[in-house]
This record gives sequence, structure tokens and C-alpha cells, in this order.
Amino acid sequence: MTRQAAIERIEQYFDNGGFREDLARRVAIHTESPIPERRPELYRYLTDEMTPRLQQSGFTCQVFDNPLPDAGPFLVAHRHEDDSLPTVMSYGHGDVVRGYDDQWRKGLDPWSITVEGDRWYGRGTADNKGQHTINLSAMEAVLATRGRLGFNVVLLLEMGEECGSPGLDEFCAAHKDLFAADVFIASDGPRMQPDAPTVFMGSRGVFNFTMTLELREGGHHSGNWGGLLANPGVIMAHALASMIDARGRIRVDGWRAAPMSETVRAAIGRLKVGGGDGAPAIDPDWGEPGLSPEERVFGTNTFEVRAFETGNPRNPVNAIPPRATVWGHLRYVAGTDPDTLLPSLRKHLDANGFGAIELKSERDMMLATRLDPAHPWAQWAIGSLTETADGREVAVLPNLGGSLPNSVFADTLGLPTIWVPHSYAGCSQHAPNEHVLGRVCRDALRLMTGLWWDLGEGGTPAPG
Ligand SMILES: [Zn+2]
Repeated sequence: MTRQAAIERIEQYFDNGGFREDLARRVAIHTESPIPERRPELYRYLTDEMTPRLQQSGFTCQVFDNPLPDAGPFLVAHRHEDDSLPTVMSYGHGDVVRGYDDQWRKGLDPWSITVEGDRWYGRGTADNKGQHTINLSAMEAVLATRGRLGFNVVLLLEMGEECGSPGLDEFCAAHKDLFAADVFIASDGPRMQPDAPTVFMGSRGVFNFTMTLELREGGHHSGNWGGLLANPGVIMAHALASMIDARGRIRVDGWRAAPMSETVRAAIGRLKVGGGDGAPAIDPDWGEPGLSPEERVFGTNTFEVRAFETGNPRNPVNAIPPRATVWGHLRYVAGTDPDTLLPSLRKHLDANGFGAIELKSERDMMLATRLDPAHPWAQWAIGSLTETADGREVAVLPNLGGSLPNSVFADTLGLPTIWVPHSYAGCSQHAPNEHVLGRVCRDALRLMTGLWWDLGEGGTPAPG
């Protein structure tokens, strides 16, 4: 009945092939959410694979249709022990991107697990079947060792994450009662380095927009009209130059991130970005001046030109083009109000003489979230992982540099969010030859068993 006994139990589960067997069964289900014909498989993953297994551990399970047509279903599973105990919400996604079956290396098959050395190949091993299998198996080990968990659980599995999580926010907003919890703990994405236990507590947001300057109907011969007609490509280039300088520093008022809090700065100060196979060299002089590379990617806002078109780049002619378009992109950290981004740009362009440029924001934005590393639940999770980590330091990211639908859990449901990723940057998720590292899976099973054990031990942060 000890923490160590639970960890030994999960080590045996891995060493005796139990983890590989569970994961292989899940990988074998063709849950490719971008392919409409796979819809029955999305349901089968929840009804035939996950529900029976969860029921064995005393979960009550319910599968819900997506509120949006043609989007994947949800499984909501509850295990309730006592009202006085803390409740954790966990999450995973059972859908995968397309298999791209014919593009995998010879000898590999996306729908079964092939082990080569420390690499376990198969679609979904990293994203996300392997990760939620680790978390649920670790919970089973705690239950088997202690005889009870010592906490309540609500689990949400979605089957549309690879299509941008359609209906997830609407579903959670409509069923807040189902997701009443004290803390959110789930796993997705890569560790900072393969052997570094990692937590991240939010993500940067994404704001995509287009800038269009259309001055007239068609192109005009530059010999006859050059010097008489304004060139929209030139004007757009100057507009861009007014928005960001030649070293990547943002110049739009309201677009730069507020200074980091001391705790966020301290957490980022312990991280190291870059390196690894095929990684490009970091440009030391790019971006917000006075910040480290780590602060630039995790602690501030960055603006990119995704594309810029004027005239016909594939067939340039000697003419003044009629229009220019820029596809712009801002990644922003929590603390930047996304509703102000487009108005701030409008104001900036008008003030700089670019009032003729039209602006449009693109589809839904992914919102930024961040839990301060000093938050009691963050400190609690870091403490538990550190205890299992055998002297390794836990990498703490206040937020990912990339984006994920964490605002559903952090904002819509109002939970402190803690992510413990079990993959690594070289895992080829979304590409052929997706894989996980066996040693990282074993390590992650141990860490999560320790975490769930500690959650049931009492002494967790007070509710609210
Ligand atoms: Zn994915």
C-alpha cells in the first residue's frame, strides 16, 4: 500500500508487455478524423475499446454526439468516490491524422506497433493514444495498489482534435455540470527534451489576418503608367515596415506583450530551446530586443508574414500590379487581449497613412492561456513529478510556444490547467513514421503513477 508499490506495479505492466498490448489494440483502430468514412471507427474507439476498460475501473461512461454535424463524438467518464475528495478532470483525443499508409518506411505499418530499438512506431503512439493510455494505466495501477484512488475523476475523450476540435467548446459550455473539477491534468505534445519530465500550463494564442490593398481593376503597362500610378506592392511593403522593423521587433502599439511576471521569467530562465536533429540555427539578433531566445518564444508576442503577393510571382510582367495582399500571423501570450489586436492594427495603419489597406481577421482564433508556475496546483504537480524523477529537474513551461485548445478548459470551464507531455520533438506526429520512445513511455508511466498516487494522499491545494 505504498507509492513505491504502485510504481513497481506500473513498471511490471510495462516490462511484461501490458502497455504495448493496450496501445497496439488502440493503434489498430483506424480513427482518422479527417476522413468522413472513418466516422464509425471514431465511435468504435469509444464504445468498444475505452468504455469497457474504464467500466472495469468503476467509471460510468456516456458517449455524446457532437453538437456540430459531421464532427466526432465525445466520451465523458466519471468515477466518483466521495464529495469531500478533490476531483481531477482529464482529457485525451482518440482520433488521429491520416495514416498516409504508403508513405511509411518499408517494414512499418501505421496501424500496428513495430518496435525498433527504443522506437515504437505506429499512428497515434505519440498523438494522442499513447499519452492517454499512459495516464489511464497509471490510474489503474494506483487503484489496484490502494484499493481506491483517493480522488474523483471526470475524463473527456474527444474524437475531432485533428480537425481543430469542432464542437469541443460548445459541448463543454453546454455541459459545465459534467465537468465540475478542482484541477485539469492531461497529456499531449512533446517534452522539452526526451529525458526531461516536463509540464506546461497553457499555450500561446494565434491571430491570423489578411491585409489587402486594391488600388484599381487591372494591371497597367509600366512604360506608359509608371510614375503616374501608385504601386500597391510598394505601399504594402512600407506598411509592413511600419509594423515590424528589419530585426523582427513589433512596432504596432498594443501588439507587444506586457512584461513577464517574475515567476514566469524565472521558469523560462531554466529552459533551453534549440538543438536536436535537423533543427535550424537560432538567429541571435531577431525579435524583441533584450530578451533571451527562450523568453522570445515562450514569453512574448511574435509577428510573422506568412505570405505576401503582388502581381503574378509565377509570371512577372512589366506592369504596375493592381493589388497586394499580406497574410499575417501573430502568436501572443496570455495577457494580450485578442479583441484589441485588429483595432490596434487599424489605428496604426490609419495613423501611418495606410488607411486604404483593408483588414480581415481569419476564422476562429486559438486563445492564449497560461497558469502562473507559482499557482498552488502547478507547484503541487511539479513537486510530485520531482519526487519520482530521481534527481532530474522538471522542465516548467508557463505556456507552450505553439497553440492548443486549452482555453476550453482554462476559460470556458475555469480550471487550473496542467499538461504533462509524454512525447518528444522528433516523434514525427502528423507525418509518416510517427513513434514514441519506449524509455520515455516507461518513465511517463512511473511519473503519472506517482502523480495520481499523490493526488489521493491528501494535502492537495484547497478548492477554489
Ligand atoms: Zn495532433
